[in-house]
Amino acid sequence: MSNWPEWLPLKDQLRPLTPYGAPQVSANARMNTNENPYGPSKELAAAIAKRVGEVATELNRYPDRDAISLREALAKYLMKQAGVNTGFNLSVENIWAANGSNEILQSIFLAFGSRSALGFVPSYSMHPLISNVANVPWVSGARNADFSLDVDLALKQIAELKPSLTFITTPNNPTGQAVEITVIEKLAAATRAMNGLLVVDEAYAEFSSQISAISLIEKYPNVLVSRTMSKAFAFAGARLGYLAADKNVIAALQLVRLPYHLSSITQASAEVALQFQDELQSEIKNLIAAREVMNSNLKELGLKVIPSDANFILFTGFKQSSEELWQRLLAAGVLIRDVGLPGWLRVTIGNEAENKLFLEALKGAL
Ligand code: PMP
Repeated sequence: MSNWPEWLPLKDQLRPLTPYGAPQVSANARMNTNENPYGPSKELAAAIAKRVGEVATELNRYPDRDAISLREALAKYLMKQAGVNTGFNLSVENIWAANGSNEILQSIFLAFGSRSALGFVPSYSMHPLISNVANVPWVSGARNADFSLDVDLALKQIAELKPSLTFITTPNNPTGQAVEITVIEKLAAATRAMNGLLVVDEAYAEFSSQISAISLIEKYPNVLVSRTMSKAFAFAGARLGYLAADKNVIAALQLVRLPYHLSSITQASAEVALQFQDELQSEIKNLIAAREVMNSNLKELGLKVIPSDANFILFTGFKQSSEELWQRLLAAGVLIRDVGLPGWLRVTIGNEAENKLFLEALKGAL
């Protein structure tokens, strides 16, 4: 909305913005927001319901403001999953948790947006949006033509701009490309040299074969790694994001968090979901295998795909405009994502039936 009424004292930096709005419309195949297509198992759902039932009897009390027990469980999970084999022992002091990693990102801008913020587009659209909302000047750096990170340009921009926050997303949304740990280390050193933070958004890390940037935190305390339970953990509805970082970073974030921001129900359910992590690993493997099949299927249709390390694929090579093809697929009951890159569309890997429906609809629409 650009014609806000005169009487509304809306901040200037918000006036030109539009709210985040991936379409939430009903469709036979929902493949637009990179959710996990598989819901929690009956056992997990029952375990969450039981635990929430226990917590419900104490809802007259505020939750643990510091979410200690959940943060301990997240630290253990990361030590196991993220392959932190550097001898660095993540503990509760290195972890923060919030209502989705979007809240984590917002807290980072609120606490550390003392100078500008730099990111390399196309990437996750909320980084610049939250930057704007938090009144932190945002600078969009460019990428290579194939959307991979232009490392030399990135290092140059960091040196020139001296941002307080530099963002990389790995695997990147919407392109699916992962950044190698050696490259992340170069960026970590460059940002450290000017007292800046490197925020590594690893929302899709569990689908990637690359080493997590968590392994850099001990050597580079300016590296912040943002994660979420929304994707691999199939937990998007519960809203649980978390951060792994140096203990000084975590301590500073507590200055900007709202008291009791994470409900007892969220904390308890997330702890239960973490207990079922082994069950989820096999689903992740299935999704990775399905991604590779989807990759081949799209190529067989004559389309060009960006090799993905995440649970979605960005593709091009169709004759219609992105809007037109997106609309045609929706008319056939398949909701995918127009990410605003002309000529490209992004599809989330769905379950078997959804993937089949998508490919059939695509064949019919091309
Ligand atoms: N980072 C990236 C790169 C994402 O794609 C998303 C969700 N689309 C998020 C963060 C936020 O996820 P959530 O708030 O559900 O944790």
